[in-house]
Amino acid sequence: MPDFSIAEAVDKAFQNHAIVDIHTHLYPASMAALYLAGPDELLTYHYLKAECSRMLPDGVSVGAFNTMPAAEQADMIWQQLFVGDSSPISEAQLGVVTVMSRLGLNPRAKDLSEFRAFYASKTPEEYTDMVFEKAGVACVYMTNDPLDDTEGAMWQRGVNIDPRFKAVLRLDSALMNWPAPADKLRGLGYGVEEKLSDKTFAELRRYLADWVEKMDARYMAISLPPDFAYPSADSIALMMGNVVYPTARELGIPSAMMIGVTRQVNPVLKDGGDSLGKWDIANLERIARDWPEVDFLITLLSRENQHELCVTGRKFPNVHPFGCWWFLNNPSIIREMTAERLELLGTSFVPQHSDARILDQLLYKWTHSIQVIAPVFVEKYESLRAAGWPLTQADIQRDISTMFGGGKLLD
Ligand SMILES: [Zn+2]
Repeated sequence: MPDFSIAEAVDKAFQNHAIVDIHTHLYPASMAALYLAGPDELLTYHYLKAECSRMLPDGVSVGAFNTMPAAEQADMIWQQLFVGDSSPISEAQLGVVTVMSRLGLNPRAKDLSEFRAFYASKTPEEYTDMVFEKAGVACVYMTNDPLDDTEGAMWQRGVNIDPRFKAVLRLDSALMNWPAPADKLRGLGYGVEEKLSDKTFAELRRYLADWVEKMDARYMAISLPPDFAYPSADSIALMMGNVVYPTARELGIPSAMMIGVTRQVNPVLKDGGDSLGKWDIANLERIARDWPEVDFLITLLSRENQHELCVTGRKFPNVHPFGCWWFLNNPSIIREMTAERLELLGTSFVPQHSDARILDQLLYKWTHSIQVIAPVFVEKYESLRAAGWPLTQADIQRDISTMFGGGKLLD
């Protein structure tokens, strides 16, 4: 019997398995103000705003653009980046084209009216079902912040969460820039002090444990700057060592760290104004060695950190690389990172997450990622077969179902 086609088997494996997306900023329709979807949100996403800032019409400054109502911003972005005098070829622009094509809309439309009418014709629940189905996504992990005024109030009141949305306790607002968060924490009943005393640490641990339980959070997540050093006398390093890692160990849930973001290098771009820097991975070696019972989900923002992250993963079984984050979420880099990880870590990592903030983005993020990732898997399976391994289609299905189903850690 002739060997089966590996390319076809890999395609089939992706089609047969719904994706578990382990890091997004998506929320269910029941969390109304946080639920973002549709053409105006999609077009005014900060990736596209940042790109439009390089292509604004003569006489329109970034500051003036920022004061325009959202629908007018969306119209201007559509005109400048899609209707204008150049092809929409960046990854973020291609993403909008893919979304519109997947929805059966004309991506060369002269304005957004057709897309807006299509979006308006569906309820948020219908729109969610349609996007999940078309994107092949089974469930997404949210980013949940009890100290966010809008979101915190919803959890306090009690909110019904669509079971396809899993909670993740986000730590940034409670731990970064101490003692700025102290007032809000005291408002929730946690007796933290301005100084980083044992009492403050104990109360912060109680805050994390309470909210993990209240939200049924699957892991705790924080994003950190490239100068994050561990151990050190910086407040955030003390917080991680005295609050986050002990809580993760006690509750038996992973601690996710997303490292390498430098905030607001150009503040006029607002959400689009953040950049990146390379991290010293010796910090991760110290963390993983000091906390062997804690599982660390790690994603680093600098391309220059990716190879050493794989090596660190080989040294520490509690280090779990995931996804191609933010500025790395581009085909040329996804291809390189996926091959590097397969070669150094086998199947023991989570290849991708979407980081979607707008529901519609699921329609392009996964399509684009799988287009790049599938051929890398095909090449590795070809090598495996050529080496003499009697590969089966069931092997391929099992690997892809595990790796794109949240990985062994979160399944
Ligand atoms: Zn994110």
